[in-house]
Amino acid sequence: MRAVVLERYGDRDALAVRDVAEADPAPDEVVVRMAASGLNRLDVFVRQGLAGPGVRSPRSLPHVMGAEGAGTVVEVGAQARTDLAVGDEVIVFSGLSCGHCRFCRRGETSRCAQYEILGEDIWGVQRERVALAPTSLLRVPAGLSLLEAAAVPTTYTTAWTMLMTTGRLRVGERILVVGASGGVAVAAMQIAAKAGAEVWATTRSADKASRLAELPYVHHVIDSSEPGWADEVLARTGGDGVDLVADAIGAPTWRDSIRSLATGGRMVICGATGGDQPDISIRELYQSHRQILGAPFGGWNDFVDVVDLMARTDIRPVIDTVVPMEQVAEGHRIIEEAEHIGKVVVDLTSPE
Ligand SMILES: [Zn+2]
Repeated sequence: MRAVVLERYGDRDALAVRDVAEADPAPDEVVVRMAASGLNRLDVFVRQGLAGPGVRSPRSLPHVMGAEGAGTVVEVGAQARTDLAVGDEVIVFSGLSCGHCRFCRRGETSRCAQYEILGEDIWGVQRERVALAPTSLLRVPAGLSLLEAAAVPTTYTTAWTMLMTTGRLRVGERILVVGASGGVAVAAMQIAAKAGAEVWATTRSADKASRLAELPYVHHVIDSSEPGWADEVLARTGGDGVDLVADAIGAPTWRDSIRSLATGGRMVICGATGGDQPDISIRELYQSHRQILGAPFGGWNDFVDVVDLMARTDIRPVIDTVVPMEQVAEGHRIIEEAEHIGKVVVDLTSPE
């Protein structure tokens, strides 16, 4: 079957679409014909072979890419314990875990010592078919297309975990989303507005600032092109600052993110795309009762909660660009050059 394959670590030309061998599914597995896969900054890091503390990477090359996706059930193993049937549309959850440790039993699967992420540690979903245990699959809610559903599992689970599970966002609070144009940032702003928060967004791009200002779930936009932008946040909040900051950028933005916080405010982090060694003042943290909370990705419990939210509300992934499988490298380029607002999705159904 055809797949997006990483032959070696490197630039975008390290990606190839080619045939890979397909293992026979186990009798307790469900086979999904993949329709689409959302791209994430994670895909770029995997391709580049990023290494360092807390960074996961493929066990071996060649490697099949893709952490998140959705598709249609085409086979249900005779021993699969599931009510899924052939023809059902499903979202593939990005994380696999042991299923029986104390964290897994609570649904906090991303805390499992054996946690693995599709497309990162092990082969991902950017291929024609994937065989998985039914515990990795959830039906696509009514009203979501497969293209939209393909942008849910990593993106929306991460946003939900940051804001609700870890950040404990409350109605009426002010939340600031730093670098507010990627998929997780847009998801976070949608969820925050739905939860009754006042949503602040930062961007370095004047073009994105005007596009963000038009989104109904963005209430204030801050120009973060120069260091010191926290002064603007403080000035516009009457010196109070914001209650919660979601920062996935890291080193370049932490100082201002922390200074934007109210007394007792929380900063929740799910990534460090700009570097992981910030220059900060710890006095600016503890003297103002501020907290930094780590929220890498999220567990099955968070995934179920955010999919339920989408089933009950009008929250839908914002799809910036769809690229066919053969042009996956162009999708990587858009993410690397940060041209997008929302998601870049790979269509896996393009003709052979
Ligand atoms: Zn476990």
